[in-house]
Amino acid sequence: MSHESGAVRHAAILAAFARLGFTPRPGQPEAVAQVLSAFLDDGARHVVLCAPTGAGKSIIGAATAEALTLLDGGTETSPKASILLTATNVLASQYHATFAALEGTGQFMAIRGANNYECTALATDSEVPNAEACAFFTMQQNRANFEEVLSRHCDSCEYIRLKQRRNSVRHLATNYTYYFVDRLFAQKLEERNLVVWDEAHLVNDLFSDHNAIFFSRQQLERTAQEIAEVVGLTDQQIARTLKTIANDCAIKGKINERNYETYLMALLRVYTYAAERGEAEQGKALRAKRFGEHNKLTRFTTTYTGRACKIDDLIKYRYDHVFEYDEAKQAVTVKPIFVGNMFSRLQAARYNLFMSATISNEVMQATLNLEPSKTKFIKLPPTFPKENKQVIFYDPLPLSYATLQDPKTVSKLVSNIANVINKHVAMQERGIILAPSFKLQAAIVDGLPKGNYKLIEHRQGEKLEQALLAFKHHQGSPAVLISPSLFEGVDLPDDLSRFQVIVKAPFPSLADKRMKHILTEYPAVYNAITLMKLIQGAGRSVRSATDHATTYILDANAQRLFSSKANVWRDEFDVRFTKFI
Ligand code: SF4
Repeated sequence: MSHESGAVRHAAILAAFARLGFTPRPGQPEAVAQVLSAFLDDGARHVVLCAPTGAGKSIIGAATAEALTLLDGGTETSPKASILLTATNVLASQYHATFAALEGTGQFMAIRGANNYECTALATDSEVPNAEACAFFTMQQNRANFEEVLSRHCDSCEYIRLKQRRNSVRHLATNYTYYFVDRLFAQKLEERNLVVWDEAHLVNDLFSDHNAIFFSRQQLERTAQEIAEVVGLTDQQIARTLKTIANDCAIKGKINERNYETYLMALLRVYTYAAERGEAEQGKALRAKRFGEHNKLTRFTTTYTGRACKIDDLIKYRYDHVFEYDEAKQAVTVKPIFVGNMFSRLQAARYNLFMSATISNEVMQATLNLEPSKTKFIKLPPTFPKENKQVIFYDPLPLSYATLQDPKTVSKLVSNIANVINKHVAMQERGIILAPSFKLQAAIVDGLPKGNYKLIEHRQGEKLEQALLAFKHHQGSPAVLISPSLFEGVDLPDDLSRFQVIVKAPFPSLADKRMKHILTEYPAVYNAITLMKLIQGAGRSVRSATDHATTYILDANAQRLFSSKANVWRDEFDVRFTKFI
């Protein structure tokens, strides 16, 4: 132990929980101690923490930051202890509720992107823009000219208040989009002790989507029109470039693997031109108090600055990516495969804590380029009794694209599903079917015999929410919900769902070129992604220590994955095999 004795560290951990206003649950101080030891004793810069549902991850993350700050020479009131990152609105709201008592004390604050706040200062008769239009700093510099606006609106504006406090608060919670935009473009967040990456299994895909470059014939035609309308397309070279690229998008093979970077360079010049012109006009409109025009120009400038930055990042960082041409949409997409060497751009702290209930060390290291000697993996013990999480491999069939072409395989699969449903419906229990695709789902729905239950189908093109609500509110008979979108982000506690059927291993679709690349170049990562999704799926219906449900796995590939050494979550489940139920 490097800095202090075990007793001192233990006391620091308990004091950290107390300062946050929490009495630690069993296991939480030990979890924080393990993470601190990895940072302070083992010299790790990154900890990958696999913490099961119910461990209280958000509190473990904040308490780690609290204790780390003090043990690292800070004080009880030092600012900039942590940034807490969340991916989904549900988790962001949970953070808000968990730390609500600390808001206003300088200890905790949550901030979101400017588009979540209103800007009343620049409102016109027809529009109240969001705070992306904010011109506070420019108006401040010309205070005499904007005195009335500033004192009536800006001095009490929530957005600017949060922005001004974001670097002085001790724990700052935000979402990945806000964080990526800050790290890649604005760089306004000052260095912290710790960044806590919650739901970290999503980071790579979120980053890849965030940094994807897209252009199509239709989009570029709109771009030419918009530039002409908003700032004037007087530069003939820029006008020609846009026209040529838009036309080339429509010709299959014209923009290809060998030449797409030339196109990107040309687009970078177009977007930079638009952004620079927009910015200049924006300033003029503001000074003349033509707020409607200013707001339009701000949106315009933000769009083209963003598009230019994405291309610039690709050129500068040369990250591994895939090029894709979609003939039907006459569109080109260039997408990062992994965060990779861009991770250095995303740094905002000395230490990083990556947390999730399903997180794999292998995937985190490969996708974020984490140096193995600086990375420590910690898995916390299960929090729910494993007998409450039964997994039954029920007569698993060798399911693949090829075997599913055989009607006999589909018929046997449907019959197995029907047996599971009948068994639970007889006990008046409700459950879910996790289908691998809408196509196989349709075959299952067609083949299932009518029974004394209500089958609710999430149809392609509809939102899952609709089907989920219908399922939750159905009364009068047991309900069964079938959908390919149930693997993640769905909570079905207690009697809402007592059984779940995992039809087939949720291998990511190879129609996605990025996934195909990952399978070819990084097969272990591809398998780990599938396994994490499988484990997420197996946890949908057990949401507390007293909750229970049975998961049926009907596919031999899913069984193989679940039983493999890579499955570090196996100890959370009570597993058995059966041929008959
Ligand atoms: S500080 Fe003023 S200009 Fe900026 S968003 Fe708030 S109200 Fe609008």
